Amino acid sequence: MADRTARQAQATIHAGGEWLDAISGATREILDPADARPFAVVAEGDEKDAERAVTAARQAFDHGPWPHTPVAERAALLRRVADLLVQGREELGLLESRDAGKTVEEGRIDIDCVADAFRYFADLVAAEAPGRVVDAGSADIHSVVVHEPVGVCALITPWNYPLLQASWKIAPALAAGNTFVIKPSEITPMTTIALLELLAEAGLPAGVANLVTGPGHTVGARLAEHPGVDLVSFTGGLASGTKVAQAAAPTVKKVALELGGKNPNIVFADACATEEGFDTAVDQALNAAFIHSGQVCSAGGRLIVEESVRDRFVTELAGRARQIRLGRGTADGVECGPLVSEQQRAKVEAYVAGALAEGAVLRCGGRRPEPSPERPATGYFYEPTVLDACHREMTVVREEVFGPVLTVETFRTEDEAVFLANDTEYGLAGAVWSADAAKARRVAGRLRHGTVWINDFHPYLPQAEWGGFGKSGTGRELGPAGLAEYRETKHVYQNLAPKPVRWFAG
Ligand code: NAD
Repeated sequence: MADRTARQAQATIHAGGEWLDAISGATREILDPADARPFAVVAEGDEKDAERAVTAARQAFDHGPWPHTPVAERAALLRRVADLLVQGREELGLLESRDAGKTVEEGRIDIDCVADAFRYFADLVAAEAPGRVVDAGSADIHSVVVHEPVGVCALITPWNYPLLQASWKIAPALAAGNTFVIKPSEITPMTTIALLELLAEAGLPAGVANLVTGPGHTVGARLAEHPGVDLVSFTGGLASGTKVAQAAAPTVKKVALELGGKNPNIVFADACATEEGFDTAVDQALNAAFIHSGQVCSAGGRLIVEESVRDRFVTELAGRARQIRLGRGTADGVECGPLVSEQQRAKVEAYVAGALAEGAVLRCGGRRPEPSPERPATGYFYEPTVLDACHREMTVVREEVFGPVLTVETFRTEDEAVFLANDTEYGLAGAVWSADAAKARRVAGRLRHGTVWINDFHPYLPQAEWGGFGKSGTGRELGPAGLAEYRETKHVYQNLAPKPVRWFAG
């Protein structure tokens, strides 16, 4: 892997197997969110660069070998990529930490998950039958349903899990035989650039994988509307996702959207009946809300706790939230990094100010921390914040904050808990904490969210579909449905004994 953390401008656009500068010559500095200092410079692409990359991907799909490469070979390549990711784990984990602000340990775990995604999709396609034979009711008819790649895929990804979100798109797209153009978030492109190098190292033919670094409103928008693109898979916020769907509509390309969430964490009193149960539920509520400073699409930022345990629960939670060690993700002992950008922190600050104006009670946080050697004053840090006495009409309860902010609401009955948890335009993920397994399953069954955890928060499995109800998106990533997104389905009906049908007399 080339060292991409140089201060000189790098040719970071990849089209047709070549590393290129932006056609305009423009560049962008990539900032370390822990101190706001640039640590890399990348090419700042625009519509013309998107055009060049789509042309390369189109050429590779229409005339190259990849769509027709035997599945076993495609799977073998994906496994080689997984091996290279494991070999590069330290370097890539560190790069992800500097780029997105997360701790290095989180960065390493992300890389493990990325490798798992490549292995999962390799295994999935390798184990499949080549087609599904359909019984047409006659020995003279051979009818088979087969899957084919969709074509050229535009993959647009966010900044919170830059490489993980990219892998949930790239691995199934390649497994299915597509070519693609990826556009990472303009502020966190570094590990995606590194992955494109690994794909080439693993032997992927030139032109199959293309990358354009640059902004959403130029590069992303052009990819979404481009007639040479057959599918757009987007992960990001609701506002941008809506624009992508609109831009894609005139060409009727396939669209998959993985958008935001406003994720409830329901805690029943019976989950806290023992000391161990209480400790676990509090610990996991912290993890749900504050890991990666809450910049997680499935963050459990909405605590819905049974009224009888609320005071004890929230007091303990706020006490532990105050102890979270904030600092540069690369510093020893740090548990939480900064927010990704000044803009993101300003957004979080505005939500907290609005919530306090609407009557929320601040139990901890609500401010920038004191600077320290591991927490430079120029970094985008913000303290884990617990807002008590919240209610469903508040903006902070209704909108995705995407920062370290936990709101607390209470309920008295099971029906009320379910009502509150479903009272959102989103529907990505949620959790239920209860010692009563039947009740927990009953409530889980009533939640309108794409993933529901019982007595846990955050784990996902590559084998299980990920995606949202409502405005959390359309389509699914991971699991068999995550591969199906990247395929066309074709029915081939062969008549082995053709005869005239004589529908028309003449
Ligand atoms: P964002 O919507 O600002 O940007 C996401 C990507 O879209 C970036 O690459 C951006 O450049 C691009 N983009 C922006 N405007 C565009 C346009 N008009 N056309 C095409 N592309 C455009 O989101 P973000 O701030 O980078 O990420 C945070 C959001 O992502 C949160 O809402 C979070 O919940 C969501 N997210 C969802 C999932 C999921 O699995 N559902 C996972 C991670 C993040």
